[in-house]
Amino acid sequence: MSTANIYKIMDDPNSLDIDVERVRRDFPMLSQRVHGVPLVYLDNAASTHKPTLVIDAIRRVYEQDYSNIHRGVHELSQRLTMQYEEAREKIRVFLNARSRAEIVFTYGTTDSINLVAQTFGRANIGKGDEILISEMEHHSNIVPWQLLCEQTGATLKVIPFNDQGNLAMSDVEALLSERTKLVALVHVSNALGTINPIGPIIKLAHDAGAKVLVDGAQAVAHMKTDVQKSDVDFYAFSGHKVFGPTGIGVLYGKEDLLEAMPPWRGGGDMIRTVTFEKTTYADLPYKFEAGTPNIAGGIGLGAAIDYVHDIGLKHINHYENSLLAYMTRQLLNVEWLKIIGNAPCKSGAISFMIEGVHHNDLGQYIDHLGVAIRTGHHCAQPVMQHYGVTGTARASLAFYNNTQDIDRFIEALEKAKKFLL
Ligand code: PMP
Repeated sequence: MSTANIYKIMDDPNSLDIDVERVRRDFPMLSQRVHGVPLVYLDNAASTHKPTLVIDAIRRVYEQDYSNIHRGVHELSQRLTMQYEEAREKIRVFLNARSRAEIVFTYGTTDSINLVAQTFGRANIGKGDEILISEMEHHSNIVPWQLLCEQTGATLKVIPFNDQGNLAMSDVEALLSERTKLVALVHVSNALGTINPIGPIIKLAHDAGAKVLVDGAQAVAHMKTDVQKSDVDFYAFSGHKVFGPTGIGVLYGKEDLLEAMPPWRGGGDMIRTVTFEKTTYADLPYKFEAGTPNIAGGIGLGAAIDYVHDIGLKHINHYENSLLAYMTRQLLNVEWLKIIGNAPCKSGAISFMIEGVHHNDLGQYIDHLGVAIRTGHHCAQPVMQHYGVTGTARASLAFYNNTQDIDRFIEALEKAKKFLL
């Protein structure tokens, strides 16, 4: 189905519903059978599937327009450069950034965070300074800061969360000081599903004189992100979690901050002039984009954003919230199962455990019933340590999931319990 058609169906102001059956037909992966039964895909927090529109956009790059970008004078290079830069513009609009100079293409969230650590961090954070993160961060928003602390002598401080899976504003306030140079916080926790109140935390951090980086990996596919409204300094996300390709991601940064930051990777495309005595650097955002980029990835991500835009994040958010409520109710009915993380504001993912059943055994068993979920520590070992467990099972949603998926998942859990306990 073309996105124009979806747009007509979805943009009815009287309806915030999504025609899931039509949407599902746009995702070829979803119609397959796994172990002889129709696939139920509930591992969207790990990665999302791709609509035909995205697959076609990537195919077109290699079949019709392929060449290297930015430096060629010939038709193909110019054509593809235009498409790549159009994708950047789509991302600017998606995040409501002021300018395309603020949109840096990276390899993903991890790469974006490392970029900030090694450029902004190296230039602005030193011995005696503090970096504040939370206890619910993904490893990719922990390890880059630990490396930076080792390199600079700065100290890493951690905002705890309570057993419900919430941060307390009083803890944020208590941990912020004039020594805090940066707060790095996840928008939506991949392990707990908690939505953090980034607006008020950014305000508190700014009042204390700190800059803020938000890890938006689990947020952008589910809710509207507005970097101007939240006043965030840096925002990172990955293409593959928002229906785009792997190997492409985005770092948003306020222009004045990016301007003042030194480059990180050196090479082609990020320079203005090179002599053996001195190199001068390209304008933003190219200063941070050394080497041939993931061209098809960027264009594919632009197509994914078109797709999300045509359905509408308002519709997606509304639909997913009701689906999450349905899944939560169904899981709460299962008395032998425990949900890990019960924050009142959650998005997309539910972590859970069955007493006496190892999460990996559970995951493998229900995989044979066609149900794909994630098991393990979810790259958030401190979250597991908080609850004194080595891992959990996690079911995570996208707007192409429906209540039948959840019913099949619950049935599979019932069977697993009979077999494994
Ligand atoms: N942060 C969060 C909250 C995540 O869920 C993930 C991916 N699981 C990442 C960061 C890292 O994303 P990527 O591997 O695409 O760089």
